[in-house]
Amino acid sequence: MQTLQWIYCPVCGNKTRLQIRTDTELKNFPLFCPKCKQENLIDVKELSITVIRKTE
Ligand SMILES: [Zn+2]
Repeated sequence: MQTLQWIYCPVCGNKTRLQIRTDTELKNFPLFCPKCKQENLIDVKELSITVIRKTE
């Protein structure tokens, strides 16, 4: 059974509309937050999210 986890905005902590699985891998993915209307580049591997660069 796969674990699903919501991605939260690294800036404001808002839950985004994206879910990741245990085997989801993202590289330089532009994560858009509908609340603070910012895009942040993230890496995702094994449910671990790393913020590459915060957009000012
Ligand atoms: Zn946000």
